Parts: sequence; C-alpha cells; structure tokens
Amino acid sequence: MALINEHYQKLAAGYLFPEIGRRVREYEKAHPGSGIIRMGIGDVTQPLAPSVIRAFHAGVEEMASAETFKGYGPEQGYDFLREAIAERSFRSRGAAITADDIFISDGSKCDTGNIQEIFGLQSKVAICDPVYPVYADTTVMAGKTGHAAANGYYQGIIYLPCTAENHFIPALPEEVPDLIFLCYPNNPTGTVAPREELKKWVDYALEHKSIILFDAAYEAFIRDPEIPHSIYEIAGAEKVAIEFRSLSKTAGFTGTRLAYTVIPGALMAYDSQGNEVQVRKLWNRRHTTKFNGVSYPVQKAAAAVFTEEGQREVEATIGYYMENAALIRESLAACGYTVYGGENAPYIWVQTRDGMKSWDFFDLLLEKAHVVGTPGSGFGPSGEGYFRFSAFATREKVLEAMDRIYHL
Ligand code: PLP
Repeated sequence: MALINEHYQKLAAGYLFPEIGRRVREYEKAHPGSGIIRMGIGDVTQPLAPSVIRAFHAGVEEMASAETFKGYGPEQGYDFLREAIAERSFRSRGAAITADDIFISDGSKCDTGNIQEIFGLQSKVAICDPVYPVYADTTVMAGKTGHAAANGYYQGIIYLPCTAENHFIPALPEEVPDLIFLCYPNNPTGTVAPREELKKWVDYALEHKSIILFDAAYEAFIRDPEIPHSIYEIAGAEKVAIEFRSLSKTAGFTGTRLAYTVIPGALMAYDSQGNEVQVRKLWNRRHTTKFNGVSYPVQKAAAAVFTEEGQREVEATIGYYMENAALIRESLAACGYTVYGGENAPYIWVQTRDGMKSWDFFDLLLEKAHVVGTPGSGFGPSGEGYFRFSAFATREKVLEAMDRIYHL
C-alpha cells in the first residue's frame, strides 16, 4: 500500500495564488466581460530585453549545428554565466563571491524550498510573518512542523512578526533558530532592510551558528544607494548566509526560468558530533544528483543580462515598473489609504480601512472595481488587514485600476 507523506495534509489551505485564481475564474464565469485587471500574482508584463533576445536566438542557433551543439552542461551552470554573475552581482559590490559559490537553477521557488533537505529534520526554522508563502509551506512538507494552530501558525516554526510598529523588520527571536528565512526587499510588504539591520542578523547568526536563508529576488528594485543589495555586503555573512537570486522579476524571466543560489565556500553547518561540514559541498551533491542544469540557450540569454547593454536595458524596464509603483502609492494614498513599500520594491502594501479583513477587501475590489490584488493574510497572520498590489502590470492597466479604485 502506497502511503502518502502525511505532512502534506497539515497544509492549511491551497497555495495562495491558485486560490486567488479560483475566485477570479468563478467571478469571470458569472460576470463575463467584466474587464478584470490583475495586480495580484507578481508576474511581469514587459518582454525580454533586446540583447537578451539576441543572445537567446544565438544560443538556439548553436544547437542547430553539430560543431556548436550542446548536450548536458555542468549541473551548476556554465562558467561563462557563473563568472559574469560573480563579477557583476557581487565583486562589483565588494562581496568576495566566486563562480564556484554560484549554482544556476530554474527558479528561486524551487531553491528556497529544496535547500531545506540538506539540513537536519530537527532544525528549527524561523520565518517572517507575513512573507512569501513558500518558506512555511515547504517547511511543513519537509516534516519539520506540527499542525497549524487556530491563529494559522504551524507548531514548531519560530514566527517573526513584521508589523508597521517594527517597520516590517522583525526583532531577533528569543528562541534560537537554526535556519532563518529573510526576504529583502520584502515580498509582500515592499520594505527593505538597512545595513545595520542586516548586520544585526548576521552577528546573531554568527553568535548562534545559525544559517540565514536570504531571498534577494527583488534586489534589482532597490533605488536607495544606502541599502545593501546582497547580504554578503555585510562582514561575516559569507560564514552564515545562503543567498537566493532570480532573473524572474529582475529581467522578465518568469516564463524563461533562471535563478541562482549562492553558497560561499566558508559557510559551515554541523553533523550530530559537532563536526563542521561545508554546506556548498552538500548542496553540490544534492544539485548534481537531482538537477541536470538549465538549458544552454537560456543560460546564454541570462549572461546577456550581465553585460553593460543588458544592464542598461533591464534597468529601463525596472524603472518602468517602479514608476507604476509610485503611481499606485500616490493614488492609494490620495484615496486615504495608509501605504508602505513601493519605493525600493515592486510591491505596495496597503492597510485596509475600518479593520476590514484582507479577503473581504479582495472580494470588494473584485466585485466593485474588477481589480485583483493579493490579500495580505495569505502571506501570514500578521498580514491580516493588509493588501498587496504589484507594480508589474502595464501602465495603462495601472492607471485604469487606480481610477476605478478612486471612484469606488
Ligand atoms: N522569492 C520571492 C520572494 C518571490 O516573490 C518569488 C516569486 O514571486 C520567488 C522567490 C520565485 O522566483 P522564481 O521565479 O525564480 O522561482
């Protein structure tokens, strides 16, 4: 008899975005032609940059002739891409990351979930509340938690509430975690972590031999020059942090798929006898066993992002999204909402009025304005009473959506 992994049955509700999709489909079925504007799921709308497309085509052409054809590539990614990333994303910011520390993958969603399997089942995991739901759900799937309590918190996870009072940056926990998920710029609150806050976490992890799992999927949206883009800009972080990066939002790769995980050679974890084990070596073992690399043309396309021309082009698209973010912020503030984020991140975090619940606000916007956003409570209990707007829609749709909300 095939038994299931019963930890899956602890998962409280369907994953947030399928649930949003279900409600929208139902509404559309009942009200065809209502002209729904989607500002919910954080998917991009602008095409790949011209230099990326050229490199992509050139990569495909190489596959067409026996002399240049590529079969299996290195599981960790081609050196041309790993070198370009190490230089452009890290060394240029004073972070001593080498190509060997970089593992190319097909997405940060999988990497942030999969990373857990190289750590002990008994590891205590700390997760911000609210945050990208994948960290908590994959912790549950891995069997590291008990059931969800009435407040939505899974037993065994150390939750780090992020509220307006603490400027959406959590306090250091009293109970010491082994693994700490941090995400800055943050999804969903759109807030960023200043250098001194990141230093606080790095020092804490150094003191307690914990590991920070730092999700920097939105670093490219940081406008403020004082805000670090990488946790490795903080001294000592190479001994305590893994960083996840993705080209999904940075360069429009949500449908093309390319991300990378950084595990510095100096990062150690421990076996049950207390012996040091190099984490990079462990992840390399996992990666080479369970993953066979990202396709060659996609890696060629990704490498173009890290050229001068590619950087200029993706920066222009990011600028477009950030203008959307400013428009959303200003429009909602003009409607009297309290808004956060949207200055160094593509997400705007809005407080609902009169204590309205997040899903009620979702239904209100869907039914009265035909605008879809994301209920804050879907990102964790502390997100209740908040709502996330994404700046990835087209300008036209953003303006239309804001106009409809203004006239609600
Ligand atoms: N990390 C965060 C914080 C995200 O918001 C997302 C996507 O929305 C991801 C990771 C997933 O990235 P990818 O498309 O590389 O899987």
